Amino acid sequence: MKILVVNAGSSSLKYQLIDMDSRDVIAKGLCERIGIEGSLLKYKGAGHSVEIQRNMKDHTDAIQMVLDALSDSEKGVLKSMDEIDAVGHRIVHGGEKFSKSVLITDEVIKTIEELTELAPLHNPANLMGIRACRAIMPNTPMVGVFDTAFHQTMPKEAFLYGLPYEAYTEHMIRRYGFHGTSHQYVSGRAVAMLNKPVEDTKIVTCHLGNGSSISAVKGGRSIDTSMGFTPLEGVPMGTRCGSMDPAIVTYLMDKLSMDTKGVNAYMNKKSGVLGLSGVSSDFRDVEGAAADGNERAEAALNCFAYNVKKYIGAYSAAMGGLDAIVFTAGIGENDRGVRKAVLTGLEYLGVDADFEYNENAPRGEEVEISRPNSKVKVFVIPTDEEMVIASDTLSLISK
Ligand code: AMP
Repeated sequence: MKILVVNAGSSSLKYQLIDMDSRDVIAKGLCERIGIEGSLLKYKGAGHSVEIQRNMKDHTDAIQMVLDALSDSEKGVLKSMDEIDAVGHRIVHGGEKFSKSVLITDEVIKTIEELTELAPLHNPANLMGIRACRAIMPNTPMVGVFDTAFHQTMPKEAFLYGLPYEAYTEHMIRRYGFHGTSHQYVSGRAVAMLNKPVEDTKIVTCHLGNGSSISAVKGGRSIDTSMGFTPLEGVPMGTRCGSMDPAIVTYLMDKLSMDTKGVNAYMNKKSGVLGLSGVSSDFRDVEGAAADGNERAEAALNCFAYNVKKYIGAYSAAMGGLDAIVFTAGIGENDRGVRKAVLTGLEYLGVDADFEYNENAPRGEEVEISRPNSKVKVFVIPTDEEMVIASDTLSLISK
């Protein structure tokens, strides 16, 4: 059984072909600059690594190029595209309509379209990917997997904002949360590593990457998460400001004569670790600068770690205890300095981190970086959103 996983952005499309019998990724890659001059297909499969520069006027062109590469007689991994049993699509916003993955039908497409208001940049791009695949593979079943779905278990007290209730009922303003597929995957792996019945587990998952979110996962269900109505809320991120006094928005608009577009760009693209440090959004650059004595870079790193730590404390209180902390994504999996800064001072919660092992633990593997007697376990678990998408796709088409 072979499943193609597609993650379509507005001008890019990431793909993986997964053999579900062996759970091996047999090919993967990326289309860049779709609809822009200089489109590029990157492909890795069957021991080959290829880059092809060819005009892709839209996502249909891109998917056609992906399928051609996958079934190329010399470097491909398929005899024909008919070998693809199903396609799993990553979709950013499922609103309150989707609490789990679904088979894609005309009605599902219509609902995703209606949710565009909540994710104006992402849902239309995801839909372009779906439509392109349907045009080229009309008889192949497709499944939609939503970033928001895992968090639909949050109780009302966690998802409501302190606005008039009509903001929720009439304008859909509430916490939705994102990175759900990643939080679901790593919390599931942590449950297995804890060796406890899932109902008894209390886990904080820290997905720390370019975008970062923290989740409280109690009994296998998300009960709170740091991203909110949009992925702007929570900890300061690569370029996003994270949570702040909402009055700052109008104050900035007045002070800097900004319109809504301007202030949105300021908070989403110029803030976070980039804005604080003035160096970069990439933690490697910021750490390099901090090591050279750049005080703003050091402040940015401290601010990030401090905020992650605050969420761990808050979510322990929300769950009434804590069994494990999980680090995942680009920073969580790789940045030992950030992990150390977050964990330092959490001894009162029962965290006994092995900081020496934290420095030397292998990358790309599931590792435990707490000492054997630590009351709260600390795991580093590489996330695998594509495998969740492929697994959900397989289980839905098998029904
Ligand atoms: P992601 O969004 O999950 O792909 O994470 C991307 C971010 O991970 C980059 O912007 C870097 O800040 C961070 N990152 C990746 N590798 C490392 C590393 N070796 N050390 C520190 N940070 C890293």
